[in-house]
Amino acid sequence: MDIDLRSDTLTRPTPAMHEAMMSAKVGDDMFGEDPTVAALEEKAARMFGRDAALYCASGTMTNQIGIRLHCQIQDEVICHKYSHIYLYESGGIMANAGASVRLLEGDRGLITAKDVEAAIQPDDIHSPVSRLVSLENTMNKGGGSCYDMDEIWAIRETCHEHGLALHLDGARLFNALVAKGQNAKEYGEVFDTISICLSKGLGAPVGSLLIGGHDDIKRARRIRKVMGGAWRQAGYIAAAGLYALEHHIERLVEDHNKAKEMAKVLRGLNYVEEVLPCETNILIFKLTDKYTNSTFLNKLAENGILAFGFGPQLIRFVTHYDFTDDHLTKTIEVLKKL
Ligand SMILES: *Cc1c(COP(=O)(O)O)cnc(C)c1O
Repeated sequence: MDIDLRSDTLTRPTPAMHEAMMSAKVGDDMFGEDPTVAALEEKAARMFGRDAALYCASGTMTNQIGIRLHCQIQDEVICHKYSHIYLYESGGIMANAGASVRLLEGDRGLITAKDVEAAIQPDDIHSPVSRLVSLENTMNKGGGSCYDMDEIWAIRETCHEHGLALHLDGARLFNALVAKGQNAKEYGEVFDTISICLSKGLGAPVGSLLIGGHDDIKRARRIRKVMGGAWRQAGYIAAAGLYALEHHIERLVEDHNKAKEMAKVLRGLNYVEEVLPCETNILIFKLTDKYTNSTFLNKLAENGILAFGFGPQLIRFVTHYDFTDDHLTKTIEVLKKL
């Protein structure tokens, strides 16, 4: 089988996860009767010190429900220009909430309280109404970059002063928590709503959670329904998510170490112009003109390694549960001989 560095979404359930799925107790979740879904939602809420959580099919759904909760037509979402919610959710900010978007520049996808302050619209009928700030952590297009807690608190302060809500796209939040030694409960304190993905580095086959206050999550359930996202015996997949939250968080450091090891090797190679700082499981590097994206990716593929182009001369590697120590050794050998 190929070595697959295209994404951390490609993992299959481990035998132990599979076992947890097969033995899950299930019921009709639209009747509020699936005990495994309920257990997953309760565990996630407790981890973040919040009232409630809602299990959904995807991170796009949890982000979009979060945005809908906070925004209505004529409102505006403030976020980095490379945010997943803007670039990769099929125009959902407009389609689901009818909201406008204010895109910020920022270092490796991270924005600051100062950037936010400067982007807030005046109270004037000509302008959309600034309503929500959305952060992404880790930042995918920023190469898995992570926020410092101090900056997040400063952004929270700015939001408070101006009556804005604060949402987190935490598709890879656990990578950030592990890399920075941060604490989930502090995130629960600072954000109004948090989206986390179980199907990225945590290795579950399906699912994301929206975490927040009681009233918000109650409304979120209704919004999920109108999106066609209420479901029945979802406990079979929720069991995989529960297993992942219990067993697959601390091990993320192994993925980070593998990415950093490849970063070190790449820095010494003549066909690499630049390697972005590597903090977590995403590694982005820039090729010299020896290769184009496609000639480089073809060479890798000939050697049984899959990866993605991520912009002009930019290649992305993502490490994950199924990228083993042997895969790392083989990949480094191949990189050195190209
Ligand atoms: C994967 C991802 C999401 C959610 O994507 P789905 O494919 O809808 O689950 C959201 N934000 C970021 C940064 C992501 O990488």
